[in-house]
Parts: sequence; structure tokens; C-alpha cells
Amino acid sequence: MYQVPRGTRDFTPDEMQKRRYVEENMKTTFTSFGYGEIQTPTFENLELFTAKSGDSIVEEIYDFSDKGGRKLALRPELTAPVIRFYVEKLQMEPKPLKLFYFGNCFRYDRPQKGRYREFQQAGCEIIGADTPEAYAELIALAYNILKNVGLKNITLNIGNLNIMNFMFTKIGVSKDCKKELLPLIDKSQFEEVYTVLCDGGVNKEKADLFIDIVQTSNINKIKDFIKKDKSAVEDLSNLEKILHLLKNSLKINNYQIKMSIVRGLDYYKGLVFEIDAPILGAEKQLCGGGAYDLVSLFGGRDTPTAGFAIGFDRTILALDAEQFSFPLPKTDVYIIPVNSEMIEKSIEIAQQLRKEGVITEFDLLRRGVGKSLKYANSKNSEKAIIIGPQELEKDSVTLRDMKTGDQQLIKIAEILSKIKNH
Ligand code: AMP
Repeated sequence: MYQVPRGTRDFTPDEMQKRRYVEENMKTTFTSFGYGEIQTPTFENLELFTAKSGDSIVEEIYDFSDKGGRKLALRPELTAPVIRFYVEKLQMEPKPLKLFYFGNCFRYDRPQKGRYREFQQAGCEIIGADTPEAYAELIALAYNILKNVGLKNITLNIGNLNIMNFMFTKIGVSKDCKKELLPLIDKSQFEEVYTVLCDGGVNKEKADLFIDIVQTSNINKIKDFIKKDKSAVEDLSNLEKILHLLKNSLKINNYQIKMSIVRGLDYYKGLVFEIDAPILGAEKQLCGGGAYDLVSLFGGRDTPTAGFAIGFDRTILALDAEQFSFPLPKTDVYIIPVNSEMIEKSIEIAQQLRKEGVITEFDLLRRGVGKSLKYANSKNSEKAIIIGPQELEKDSVTLRDMKTGDQQLIKIAEILSKIKNH
């Protein structure tokens, strides 16, 4: 017996129906904000990812050499491929350039619920705009996508890495100490943060204040801390503008300021945000995004970039957990020939109905009417058409309502109008 590789999944027709529903819905929201869909290859040169995230990323991804000895990697995310695409071919496009994508990603993660080795991301990048309104719209897009697919309970957290960096500098944290602190802050392990700060020579008072500010959702406290320091005042004022637009114009009220979002990545700068579905528990993060610098690293002309990635699989897990009722796969009409002489006519009718957009199946196994009806039920069929010799002589068939069991004799010429009227 062969099994799927660890951390990967097969999807049944019912599951695929859900996935396509969610994808279509997300696509509609992306396009409503003027984003255009792109696609990039499933594998890229390994260097693309090590240039972005450092050599240690190799431990976390699927890398391999092809027969020509090229070092390649299955993409662990899509931001680097999209920016590679931009630098290679799209730099001359009018700005802002707004791109969205769906794609499978591969990570050598430890599999668990909501964490897979192959998973899907839905994401976007906006290239060439760094106004507060661009960022407010970006956050609203991510939020609206998750709301529009039908999620009821999501939380939005917004931070700013430049302000965080300013805070590190202000209390005198060294570069090495910062490296140690970022993953702890990311996981909200504040007792450990305190210890590392004190061990790194920061006095207790400052360490306490730092931890207080990192945990606060009160912008005035952050303002107080920054005072009139030039290096952070502009970031703070932009953050305030973004929050103002979200609340007043984009009508998104339920966000929190969260300075402890560090996204663990060096190339992020300025705005960062995350959206969670608390119902998912440990693996609750649905979306991560923000502003980042990659274009110049990949050899392009410097231009601002920002984006986000939504975990597609987790979005579906969250919808399931909230008992969202997905549209089910269904058959409109199931045609049952009562004997083998009726097969040709059955196929002919089936084909005419399909031409009119009616989802039509007919019994391919020459089963009796009873068994065929049972199968039609299992396919959520709304109607059945039973074709028998006596009825056919009168150019008629039996139309059965699968829900009520009511049957009526109708003319073949009337089938379409009867079905469509329903
Ligand atoms: P990241 O690129 O790490 O910011 O991830 C963006 C989103 O992708 C996360 O918020 C998750 O929802 C989702 N995600 C990341 N890793 C996995 C994984 N191994 N399995 C499923 N979803 C994932």
C-alpha cells in the first residue's frame, strides 16, 4: 500500500468544491480592489530564497539538484518569486502595480493540524506605493477577503517594525541581543524577554518599560515613549493615519495595536499586520503581511513594496470550525433508462440538457430504477427523469422530484422549461 507523503493531503470532490468556492470568492475580492492575478513557477533557483532569508532557510525547505546540476527549491512562499518576476519583467509597468496569486507552497515543517508540508497561500503584493492610504487599503483587502468568504470571528493586529527598532535603540539593546529577543517577542514569551534584556545590560526599569510598551494596545503610551524623537515620529504619525482610515473610511473597527508582531524576518520594515482566527487555537494565524524591502536585494530599482499571504487551508479549517455551510456539489437531473433500448434516447436528452447548462448525469451501469434513484440521491440530484418505452411512445418521460418523491408525466419538449421553472 502506498500512502501520501508526510504532511501532504489528497482532496475529495466535496473538499475541492469547498476549495474552489473559497478561491473564487477570494478572487472576487482581490479583483474588486483592482489587483490582477499572476502565476509563477512551483520551483525557483534555491538562491532566490537564501538571498532573501539567509542560508539557514535551507533547513526548512525542499531543495534539490536537477539533472543539469542546478540547485533548485520548491517555493516555501510567494513573495520572493513575485518580486523576482517584477524585477525580471514588470519594472516598467505603471505604478502602483497590484498583483495577487494563489499557489501551493512547500515547507519542511513538523506536520500537525493547520500545518502541512504542502499548503496553499492566497496573497498579493503592491509595488510602488507607500502612502498611509495604500497600507490602509492593503489591510482592508486582507480583512475583507476573510470576512467575504464567510468568517465571523477574526482578529486584526497591527504593528510597526521601525517603531520596534527605535525602542530597541532607545533602551540600548545590542544587535546580538536583538536577534535573541525577536523570536521570544514573536511568541509573547515576555519573562524570557525580561531575562535576556537584563543579561544584556539593560537596567530593570527600562526592561519593564520596554515590555510594557511592547504589550500595550494603547497608542498614547507608545507616543509617550517616543516623545519627539525624529526617527520614530513619522512612523507613528503614519500608523495613526492608517488606523484612522481603517476606522473612519474602511469601517474596520476591531483592530488592536500589537508592537510584538515582529514576523521574525529581517527584510520587513515599517508596517506589519496579522489576522487570526482564535477558534483554531495553536495554529490560528490566517494572514501575515506588511511592508518589506526586496526589490533592491534582487537587483531592481528601489521602490516600496508591501503585501500579505493568507493561509488558504487554515481559512477552510476556520470556516469548518465556525460551521459555515458551504455550497454542496449537486446534480440537477439524473436520467434513468428503464431498459437498454432507452439508452440512446437518454444520452440524447442528457446532451441537450447539458447544452443548456443543466448538470445532467445518466445511469451508466444499467441498474434498476430503485438502485439508480438511490445513487441519484447520493449525488444530491434535484430531479430524476425516468425514460420507459410506453411513455416514450407518447414523446413523454416521467419527471420525479427527488425531495418530495412526486412524479409527473411530461412531454420531452417540456423538460427544459419544467426544470428551469423549478
Ligand atoms: P508566512 O509566509 O509564514 O507569513 O505564512 C502566511 C500564512 O500561511 C500563515 O499565516 C499561515 O496561515 C499559512 N501557513 C504558513 N505555514 C503553513 C503550513 N506549514 N501549513 C499551512 N499553512 C501555513
